[in-house]
Amino acid sequence: MRRAPAFLAAIAGLVLTGCTSVPETTMTDPVEWRLVIHGGAGVILRENMTPEREAAFEAALKRSMEAGAAVLRDGGEAIDAVQAAVLVMEDDPLFNAGYGAVFTADGGHELDAAIMDGRERNAGAVAGVKRVKNPILAARAVMDKSEHVMFAAEGADAFAEAQGLDMVDNSYFDTDWRREALERVLQERARTAADKHGTVGAVAIDMNGNLAAATTTGGMTAKAAGRVGDTPLIGAATYAENGVCAVSATGHGEFFIRVGVAKTICDRVKLLGEPIVTAGDAALAEVAELGGDGGVILIDGEGNPGFSFNSAGMYRGVIDAKGSMVAIYGDESN
Ligand code: ASP
Repeated sequence: MRRAPAFLAAIAGLVLTGCTSVPETTMTDPVEWRLVIHGGAGVILRENMTPEREAAFEAALKRSMEAGAAVLRDGGEAIDAVQAAVLVMEDDPLFNAGYGAVFTADGGHELDAAIMDGRERNAGAVAGVKRVKNPILAARAVMDKSEHVMFAAEGADAFAEAQGLDMVDNSYFDTDWRREALERVLQERARTAADKHGTVGAVAIDMNGNLAAATTTGGMTAKAAGRVGDTPLIGAATYAENGVCAVSATGHGEFFIRVGVAKTICDRVKLLGEPIVTAGDAALAEVAELGGDGGVILIDGEGNPGFSFNSAGMYRGVIDAKGSMVAIYGDESN
C-alpha cells in the first residue's frame, strides 16, 4: 500500500514521524486552502515512460492544480476549484477524462463524471455521456439546475445540451494512442493495466472550510457499451462532507463500487475518528482483498491532505498557499 507522501508533508510545513506517517496528525499550521488532484492510477512504471512524456504529465498536472488554486487563492469556493482543476484535465489528451477518453469495445466513447459539495452534500453526476465536451460541467449542471443527482446516456446528453453546454461529435474524443490501446487490448483479449487508468479527480478545501470533490473518466479501455464504473456514483469514487473529508478515487471501478470506497473512507473518519490516510488504506485494503487496484486522493475537515494507492503509480499533485508538488511513481519518496 502506498501511503501519505512526504512531499505533502513537506509543502504543508509538517514534521514527519516516519516514512509512512499520516500528515494530518502532525500538522502545525492551519490551512488557508488546499487542492489535491489525481490523473489516474495504474501500472505507471519508469521503464515505460520517456522523459518527454513524464515532463508532459507533470506540466499537465501543474496546469490543472494552478487552475484550481487560482479559484481558492482569490477566496473562491472549493466546488468551483475542483471543477476548474478537473476541467483542465478533461481538455488534455493525456488523461482518460474528456478529450483523450478511452475507447469502448465497439470503438466509441462513454464518459462519466460526478461532483459533490461538502456543505449540504449536494451532488450531481452523469453516466455514459457521448456528446458533452466537458462531463464535469454536465455533472455540475445536474447538481445546480435539476432536482436529481444523476442522469445517464441520451437523457444526460440531452440535459446537458438543454443547459447550453458545449456538445461535440463522439469522434472528438478519439486519440491515436487510445485507439492503439483499444486495438492492443482487443488483440490480447485482456486488459493491460497501463491502459485502463487515467481518470482525473480533485478534492479541495476553501478559505471557509468547505470541502468538495470531483471525478471524470472515460472508463476502462474496451469496456462494454453501457458499462458504468464507480466514477459517477456518489459514495463509490466521489464524496464530500464538510468537517469530515473529501475523496476522489481512480481504479478498477467494479471493485470500488462493491466496497463503496469514498463513503467508507468518510464514514471511518466520521464514526471511528480515523485519520484520513488510515481510513483510505483500510478501504483500499478491501479493494485489494476483492482483487482490485487503484487509489484515492483525500482532504479532511481541517484541510489535511493524503492519498493511498495499491497500484504501481498514480499521477498526483497537491497545491496550497505555500507551494506545490507533483508525483507519478509509487517508489517516489514524495
Ligand atoms: N474508475 C474508472 C472506472 O472504472 C477507471 C479509472 O479510474 O481508471 O471507470
